[in-house]
Amino acid sequence: MFEYAPAPESRDIVDIRATYGLFIGGEWVDSTGEDHHKSINPATEEVLAEVAFATAEDVDRAVTAARQAYDKVWGPMPGRERAKYLFRIARLIQERSRELAVLESIDNGKPIRESRDVDVPLVAAHFFYYAGWADKLEHAGFGPAPRPLGVAGQVIPWNFPLLMLAWKIAPALACGNTVVLKPAETTPLTALLFAEICRQADLPPGVVNIITGAGGTGRALVEHQGVDKVAFTGSTDVGRQIARSVAGTGKKLTLELGGKAANVVFDDAPLDQAVEGIVNGIFFNQGHVCCAGSRLLVQESIAEELLDRLKTRMATLRVGDPLDKNTDIGAINSAAQLDKIRELSQAGEDEGATRWSPPCELPERGFWFAPTVFTGVAASHRIAREEIFGPVLSVLTFRTPAEAIEKANNTPYGLSAGVWTEKGSRILWMAERLRAGVVWANTFNKFDPASPFGGYKESGFGREGGRHGLGAYLK
Ligand code: NAD
Repeated sequence: MFEYAPAPESRDIVDIRATYGLFIGGEWVDSTGEDHHKSINPATEEVLAEVAFATAEDVDRAVTAARQAYDKVWGPMPGRERAKYLFRIARLIQERSRELAVLESIDNGKPIRESRDVDVPLVAAHFFYYAGWADKLEHAGFGPAPRPLGVAGQVIPWNFPLLMLAWKIAPALACGNTVVLKPAETTPLTALLFAEICRQADLPPGVVNIITGAGGTGRALVEHQGVDKVAFTGSTDVGRQIARSVAGTGKKLTLELGGKAANVVFDDAPLDQAVEGIVNGIFFNQGHVCCAGSRLLVQESIAEELLDRLKTRMATLRVGDPLDKNTDIGAINSAAQLDKIRELSQAGEDEGATRWSPPCELPERGFWFAPTVFTGVAASHRIAREEIFGPVLSVLTFRTPAEAIEKANNTPYGLSAGVWTEKGSRILWMAERLRAGVVWANTFNKFDPASPFGGYKESGFGREGGRHGLGAYLK
């Protein structure tokens, strides 16, 4: 066992305050309540900062500030003026990208290589993309004079804190809405740094409000009568509760929920490329990915060969310090999530699947889980049905394309899927039949601001990203 020591020079790049209030009406204000939450670095268990838990009264203040900004400034502002602010925010994100990437890795546990090369560039790209739409909304396909909805209440999870914020805030603002956003309780720090960026961009006060807290704060926000639009990304259970509470209120709702994606590999697939796609599909961001390729469906004739190559590749993955540029798998975001991954992995063993991980020395402190693959998995096993949200892959086999479709669609979720084959016609055949919002062919986990993203069935409804994503914020 080695004692983990974070790279100090990276830590110095970012200035973390000891305590944070709420960002309401363009100012930092104290919560009216006493509750605070300690945001922890999951790689070290070090307390990074104390963050306020917003009360229902705070939520009301934030919604009121957003309403005033909507009525007086942002709603009436011409799209080309709004675009200037969004472009400015995008450029500031680029300028402060090192700081944002380090903070994201410290607060979330994800490898710096990912926050630096994937999360933060995509965040900037979303603001650039939607800035471009702000003065062209009449061409978006939602009628000749689409109008904003008003105040958006947005609640996001902890797996891509800054990217989920960008998915929510950029289109909302481009369309002329104002927002109150609540980040997840374990990863609030980059959203709070984003609040500073809004100030730096001279965004009019109240256009973006960031309130921190746990589920109670989120509930108070989505149930607030002054909210016109609710956008939620998170678990299917909470999504269900929100759908019930929003029903009949006239609020517009989008839900981006869980997933259990199939990554389907046919016998004619380029195997080394497929192995990279499988590794990326399940171990990217420690598997804390709603569209993670957590079920590998491999054609029986190549199963042994593919698994040999996959295990060889897994043995090269480096687990450890998220701030080390060579790290492939960082820390699990919280003790609670680690417990959930352990519990489901134990269920996999108990139900008879075979567990394998490469030899892997994990740090003593912090929350860690070795990359893991389960073979001999049956469709009825919990690890084949439930979202694990960790670096755990379940392998099933199939013989024919029809069987692959039947197994891939045998899930209550429908967010994403992958297909690996040399045959273009087979890709199209599969894509037509896979009940998933996104189907990747010979690649996985590819995102672009211009592409819509969203699920079927228990993965939610509505689309974020692209032109389609504007529809969620317009009437
Ligand atoms: P979660 O549902 O527990 O929490 C998500 C957010 O909702 C947090 O900010 C939380 O504080 C808040 N919340 C909790 N209870 C609430 C309530 N009753 N009312 C309002 N807000 C409430 O999910 P999580 O554990 O943070 O995130 C993991 C889940 O998110 C996974 O299921 C994952 O698949 C999903 N996810 C989906 C997408 C997507 O685009 N479909 C993207 C990322 C994550």
